[in-house]
Amino acid sequence: MDTAVLVEAKVQEFETFLASLPPAGTEADNIDRIQCMERAKRALSAVQAKATHRFVEQRQAQETANNIPTSMQIKGIEAEVGLARGESPFVGAGLTHTATALCTVLPHTLAALEAGEVSEYHARIVAEQTNHLSDAHRRAIDAAIATKLGHASSSRLRSLIQGHAYRLDREAADQRAADNQRRRRRVCLDPAGEGMVYVTAELPTHQGVAVMDALTKTTNQRLAAVRKTNDTNGEQLSRDQVMADAFVELLTGQTTAKAVTAEVVVIINDTTLFGDDDLPGWILGQGPLPAGMTKDWLANPQASKFIRRMYTRAADGQLVALDAVRRRFPAVLSKMLRIRDDTCATPWCNSPVQDIDHRHPWAKGGTTSWANGLGLCKRCNQRKENRGWAYTGTPDHLTVITPTGHQYTVPTKPPITEIGRWNTDPPALEHTTVDIACPTAA
Ligand SMILES: [Zn+2]
Repeated sequence: MDTAVLVEAKVQEFETFLASLPPAGTEADNIDRIQCMERAKRALSAVQAKATHRFVEQRQAQETANNIPTSMQIKGIEAEVGLARGESPFVGAGLTHTATALCTVLPHTLAALEAGEVSEYHARIVAEQTNHLSDAHRRAIDAAIATKLGHASSSRLRSLIQGHAYRLDREAADQRAADNQRRRRRVCLDPAGEGMVYVTAELPTHQGVAVMDALTKTTNQRLAAVRKTNDTNGEQLSRDQVMADAFVELLTGQTTAKAVTAEVVVIINDTTLFGDDDLPGWILGQGPLPAGMTKDWLANPQASKFIRRMYTRAADGQLVALDAVRRRFPAVLSKMLRIRDDTCATPWCNSPVQDIDHRHPWAKGGTTSWANGLGLCKRCNQRKENRGWAYTGTPDHLTVITPTGHQYTVPTKPPITEIGRWNTDPPALEHTTVDIACPTAA
């Protein structure tokens, strides 16, 4: 029997066995079962890692045989691995690097994973924390921490690896710290749920301390100036709240944190805006915002805004569209595509939309249209042009075809319509409109 067919049959057999498992009897039986399944998951992770590494080697060999220059080889494989595992290209890259490291320079960690002694998460920590080191030092650390695998916590594992790396090459460690201070800085925005977001800055330690110092000083001054600082309901503000307001005001130059105006696109159903509907609003690329909060925010006279209305297709809430004759997507069509796709349209990619481009390339006869337009991140848009990749489908779904011929299909409708679908109480999404409200700086 063909190996792939045999593996598929055995895995199916195992899945059937798992589905038919009766509940475990006692408390102890349940813990036994959890442990047993954890061991199986770890062993499966080792098989996935070895298959991933072999896939990379095979692709590289095939491209070498086809005279593809080394610098152009194994382009996009991280996305192929990500798609195969239902993960973003970013996570796919981490999984690919981990697999290569386990199969080449981390033999003890791989053996522990195969034996079910260490989790895939911890194996990944070993790979990632040694990623910047030479092969010889990675091997040395792998051997040095072998007896700790499966016993040390994740933070202890990180500290041990870091300590060994500093010991093995002190000069390089000092150099890396200096380089990081010079180059590695960034600010990110991530959803925190319940109408909140995290703004995170990665900074050199002394600068981070200076930022907190400035915030603390401003907070202390405000707390000292107004002994009792109250919010709009007359409740006394906590130190954390005063500091958060100062953070917003210092960064935006606004006089009060609530008056902040930003170019933020809010997608809101008109039954929410003008009625008492529970359907949340949706902040482009960030996710849902509770209905009441969306309305309050849009109604706040301190935040200037304009509202533009867009109509949805009656049957299912899909946005309707206009087409263009030029290569460049006109602004309104771009905005509609951004709203439809919300984040990069590639399955499981979490990156924000950076490019609006053609699924079927313009150069090959693709049209500048709603049907052929797509919101993608820069990386996915570049990878799409590589040999063996194709993005096809309709405005309602996207199919990504990878160089191995595997296909991944996902629906492409504004995510807010997906939420609406579960709302059986009025309103049905038929015959409703989607409003786009863009509060803008005056
Ligand atoms: Zn992407």
